[in-house]
Amino acid sequence: MKNKVDEDIILVGAGLTGLTFCNFLRETDIKIAIFDVNPEEFYNTFDDNRHIVLSNTSKIILSNMGIWGELENYCTEIKNIHISKKHVFGNTIVSAKDENIESLGYQIPLKRLLNKLYQSIKLSKNIRVYSRSEVASVIQDDIINVKFIRNKKEETISSRALIFTSGSQLNIVKDLFQPKIQKDYKQNAIVCEVLTDLHDSITAFERFTDDGILGVIPRKKNSWTLIYSTNFKESGYINELSKSELKDYFQNLIGSKCGGIIDIKNLVSYPLKLNFYENFTNKNTCLLGDAAHTLHPIAGQSFNLSVRDCLEITKMIKQYSSKGNINFSHIFSDYENNRKKEVQRIVKFTDFLSTFVHGRNIVKNKFISLFLLAIDSNKTLRIDVIRYLLGVNFSDKLISDMKNK
Ligand SMILES: Cc1cc2nc3c(=O)[nH]c(=O)nc-3n(C[C@H](O)[C@H](O)[C@H](O)COP(=O)(O)OP(=O)(O)OC[C@H]3O[C@@H](n4cnc5c(N)ncnc54)[C@H](O)[C@@H]3O)c2cc1C
Repeated sequence: MKNKVDEDIILVGAGLTGLTFCNFLRETDIKIAIFDVNPEEFYNTFDDNRHIVLSNTSKIILSNMGIWGELENYCTEIKNIHISKKHVFGNTIVSAKDENIESLGYQIPLKRLLNKLYQSIKLSKNIRVYSRSEVASVIQDDIINVKFIRNKKEETISSRALIFTSGSQLNIVKDLFQPKIQKDYKQNAIVCEVLTDLHDSITAFERFTDDGILGVIPRKKNSWTLIYSTNFKESGYINELSKSELKDYFQNLIGSKCGGIIDIKNLVSYPLKLNFYENFTNKNTCLLGDAAHTLHPIAGQSFNLSVRDCLEITKMIKQYSSKGNINFSHIFSDYENNRKKEVQRIVKFTDFLSTFVHGRNIVKNKFISLFLLAIDSNKTLRIDVIRYLLGVNFSDKLISDMKNK
């Protein structure tokens, strides 16, 4: 056990959340060590085709952080979202114009975002990155001792606070945080790239089919991300289809809105589960990102919510540290109080969409039909939906605080 403190904060996990957190605190006096099992090259060579949708709020936050400029070249702006349900009369278009904002979201290649977040902290004097290092155990006290394995050797490091940004799978978390709320949607998300004969679209489509939820989101030129969350039976069936059968299958689900499908690439499947800790802080330890909440991807909320979490917690760390009083237990407890309401609302909203809205139940379908019609004809309701999807309701103050600095 070490009694001397090496760092102020240790982060377990240098994925999107860990790196975003570090970017908010780069070039400050807070000493941070961030661990990841991945090697340093990972951030340059990572060649996953996955894209992620960032909300307008996230874009503003990342711009203020100073990392948006170059990323803009790789982004596709979404100006409208067309929402409909199969066999249900009524659909609606949610548009950026209604909210007087530039865009409803930005689709960006995950690899570009990860790379930029990593490059901009790499040379920061207050941040040390431990690559190829797996955190194996944690002993929590006023000083936290963290054991990690690097080059097959066990080493120990200590800190005043520890934040898990380790995604949803790390077992150590379960010993420190309870109870975890879990829900297995018994669905897979099928994700692939679709090329069609329609170019440079600014409209995304969200369609509730009989068995699932289909999102088709424009990328650059004639490329689209297709994400289809559906039950095991249908996803199993889709996974067995040949390429030409796949084209017909998805064309039938989408209709002609995105043009004629020319090709389908990089089909992958993810099991869908909700993992969520109601209490995401415990004295001088805290959960951030997917470690705290892993949501159904229906509304593209998980990382967008984490960006706002990171902004709030780092803002509080800076405030306390400027007063010379860095008591992490107080900071984390205040952070949880400030964020609990928004986190729970987004979790509930996303869970409601993913469980209630799909299926063939006639009563449900009638309700949805009315809801879609109501959104379409009632501007206030439409704006409320946009605000929910963009996180604007909850984040106005966060952003204005950031701008006033
Ligand atoms: C199909 C799909 C589509 C999505 N679309 C969207 C979207 O459009 N918008 C949106 O906001 N979100 C979306 N999400 C969610 C988003 O991708 C995640 O919220 C985000 O990637 C989570 O980042 P993270 O850093 O919290 O976790 P992770 O990305 O899981 O990173 C955790 C890191 O911790 C490291 N690690 C774990 N354990 C250890 C250990 N013991 N020691 C050292 N390192 C460790 C791992 O190597 C990893 O690098 C989507 C998710 C899916 C599956």
